[in-house]
Amino acid sequence: MNAKKLPLLFLLIICVALSSCQSGDSGTKEVRPAIASLVKWQELDTLSLDRINANVEAGKPTVDVGIYFPSNFDPDYKKVTMASMLESFLAAKEIYKPTGLQLNLLFVKTGEIDPSYLAIQANEVPGVPVTEYVNTYEHMERHPARLTGHAREAFDAIVEPDSQNDRTIYLIALQDVFYPFLEVSEGRNWTVKSVRTGGLSFPTYSYGKNLPRHLRGVITISNLSRGDRSRRTIAHELGHKLMNVSHEYRETHPGHEVYADGGLMLYGNGEEIPSGKEGRWHLERLLLSPFIYTFDADGSKVWNEDYQNNGHYYDPIYGDKVVRFKGVPPIDPNW
Ligand SMILES: [Zn+2]
Repeated sequence: MNAKKLPLLFLLIICVALSSCQSGDSGTKEVRPAIASLVKWQELDTLSLDRINANVEAGKPTVDVGIYFPSNFDPDYKKVTMASMLESFLAAKEIYKPTGLQLNLLFVKTGEIDPSYLAIQANEVPGVPVTEYVNTYEHMERHPARLTGHAREAFDAIVEPDSQNDRTIYLIALQDVFYPFLEVSEGRNWTVKSVRTGGLSFPTYSYGKNLPRHLRGVITISNLSRGDRSRRTIAHELGHKLMNVSHEYRETHPGHEVYADGGLMLYGNGEEIPSGKEGRWHLERLLLSPFIYTFDADGSKVWNEDYQNNGHYYDPIYGDKVVRFKGVPPIDPNW
């Protein structure tokens, strides 16, 4: 889809075509609700994890990724296949290679999920749009997105309880994930739209304290059917999760309509993860992600520091690796 036609907020928060967004929680461990209908997953044994992880080296920063691939998609759903999921994952490994970050595939599992989970609405309809007084990240910290009850139920059933739930990325293939957002319609009126996402990363800069800690690694993948999507989607979604930024690149603040090649976090064909202030600290933020570990001499995982304030964009763990910018009037200032 042509991003030039995409409205501002839409570019901001979601990632329809190419990908999308996530969130985290730095508080105490929460109690996971008892779910009667936990999915019975089976590891795909025809797949050689050793081969896929062959180039993973012990001393380098690493992120663990698990893939959940339902076995009961509707017959006409072909937008994500096991092959395209793995292809996009392997492409993401390549795209992150220049940063020194490596992706370790923990498992690929299949199983039958409740058919109602095949299509979900990601978050509740937001009530307060961003205006000019704060920038989009500050706004999202004040008004974090909230999962719908149905999405929460689906993820609780899908993601198996694990001591490292909050440090693991889960790529979950679902047929449809809809993301409602607010857009200026005319004058001083906003309207709700809902976008059909190709991928959604549920980033902490967007969901903040509202994202249950054990689900903060969830990313949904719904459309890898075009070449560009297959190549970039998982890498781009991981970017939202791990760099904890929206659609932005160099001088381009999130919130502007952006279609350009260059950065991984824009729409387009870009794969660059720039560094330094002029690169909006993308590389530095990536390497600070709490989802990253290295091994110590004993072979134990040593995790990066956790978020201190729910993982919003300006979370203290990022120190000065943030960009300060002003909000933009969404409507005629003389309204
Ligand atoms: Zn995106």
